[in-house]
Amino acid sequence: MEGLMMQQPLLVASLLQHAERHHGTQEIVSRRVEGDIHRYQYRDLARRARRLANALAGLGIAPGERVGTLAWNGYRHLELYFAASGSGAVLHTLNPRLHVEQLAYIIEHAEDRVIFFDLSFLALIQSVAPHVKSPKVFVAMTDREHMPHAHGLPIPLLCHEDLIDLHSDVFEWPALDENTASSLCYTSGTTARPKGVLYSHRSTVLHTYAAALPDSLNCAARDVILPVVPMFHVNAWGLPYIAAMVGAKLVLPGPALDGKSLYELIEAEQVTVSAGVPTVWQGLLAHVEGMAGAFSSMRRTIIGGAPCPTAMTAAFQERHRVDVLHAWGMTELSPVGTVCSFRSHQLSLSTEERYAVQAKQGRPVFGIDMKITGADGEELAWDNAAAGDLLVRGHWVTRHYFRSDEPALQEGWFPTGDVARIDADGFMQITDRSKDVIKSGGEWISSTEIENVAYLHPEVTSAVCIAARHPKWDERPLLLVVKKPDSTLAADELLGFFDNKVAKWCKPDAVVFVETVPLGATGKVLKNQLRDQFSNYYLTGS
Ligand code: AMP
Repeated sequence: MEGLMMQQPLLVASLLQHAERHHGTQEIVSRRVEGDIHRYQYRDLARRARRLANALAGLGIAPGERVGTLAWNGYRHLELYFAASGSGAVLHTLNPRLHVEQLAYIIEHAEDRVIFFDLSFLALIQSVAPHVKSPKVFVAMTDREHMPHAHGLPIPLLCHEDLIDLHSDVFEWPALDENTASSLCYTSGTTARPKGVLYSHRSTVLHTYAAALPDSLNCAARDVILPVVPMFHVNAWGLPYIAAMVGAKLVLPGPALDGKSLYELIEAEQVTVSAGVPTVWQGLLAHVEGMAGAFSSMRRTIIGGAPCPTAMTAAFQERHRVDVLHAWGMTELSPVGTVCSFRSHQLSLSTEERYAVQAKQGRPVFGIDMKITGADGEELAWDNAAAGDLLVRGHWVTRHYFRSDEPALQEGWFPTGDVARIDADGFMQITDRSKDVIKSGGEWISSTEIENVAYLHPEVTSAVCIAARHPKWDERPLLLVVKKPDSTLAADELLGFFDNKVAKWCKPDAVVFVETVPLGATGKVLKNQLRDQFSNYYLTGS
């Protein structure tokens, strides 16, 4: 027998409609690229998003076409989140940390029709523009007064505020099928080419419900949420959608992500919940060093993207009385997978034991299932000892990469490329990574890309790039090289060879010359052995 309940599709625009109707006067505060602080309310956001939706239609963006953004966390970016997805187009957030060539590849692969960009990225747009054909127009996310002159771009450059001013705020959000694509985010994976994850309205709204729950990111109307995690990296962990769903005040930090700027913003806006990668929090903790109880309002910080060190958890909790919520996720998971929220029996553990729990990546909320498997694909026990490949499935897990021929799933499960163990309480802890990538300050560097450049050097016989632990960036690339016989190649010279071939921050920090590299039976480099030997290189200098 069929249930007799209303059929209302789960749509991104309905989050905005709810926020406008039920939390209309709640504030959204942004530090602008122009340097000042901007404030408005959800009802202003909704009005401007409708104007922008009309503008997108005016630009000829058809349903399903991609709207690119190259922007920091700010209100204009937020307007695009809702205007692009809500009107039936696909929001495509571009990562400005990528090299020009990678950006051009992604823009063409996604066929972005228009790209909105923050003024800080004008030079990047100027470099990318000659290499792309898909975009028909660029939009600078600023007002007329700040519009760049003589930009030299091959296609028209419009002004965000002009688009808003010129269009009506009367717009009916279309009643889309909830499985329609809503946004797109590329992840620099293990292959040299980034892969696109295409979210749907349904997966986004279900993720929003689940991520807001108390045992998840725990967000409520009375919270003031500061996503430091970029809106170009997996939708800022879904926090813009969550804030709209629960009606929380949203604080968007713009480009100023240093400890001092973040601290001032947290205090001025009385932030209660913040979210970001460990590298960002190191800067913040360094700034408040010696200021016991520095935070007058912040109750909780969500730390993920890389393992949260216990010293960081202790510093926040003991010195500043800010609870740490350690979380694990992936672009392919929208991103929330597991969150380390205590079960009741864990509350009575000793401080040390509780830290040991908090070092784990946590347990899944309803909507995500996980398992670990051994070498033959057999499921391993949750005994806190057996470590195996971590696989997940759920309502907001990708089943196929955008425009890719490669299958993404293994018998219905998504292989994460992380290696983990799970304890009897169901808490997952990442112990290793089977994917060959380096995560530096929350952003990916492809080992293959670094190795390919090294091989272009005529005096290099073998080149292997591994992730080495780093006190500030969590991981940095280390290049191990076998030189041609009699070569006098010096490390600095080889590092200089990378200039203009990869993004500056992706260059290895050091080169170590070795006699040979260990090879397995099939001739594959045994990176694990090299990792065992060299992973502490940046900590110990050897
Ligand atoms: P991304 O798709 O860029 O968000 O990266 C996802 C990957 O980052 C995961 O597969 C892990 O390798 C890593 N990661 C994310 N969160 C954590 C965490 N809390 N601890 C350890 N690694 C993490």
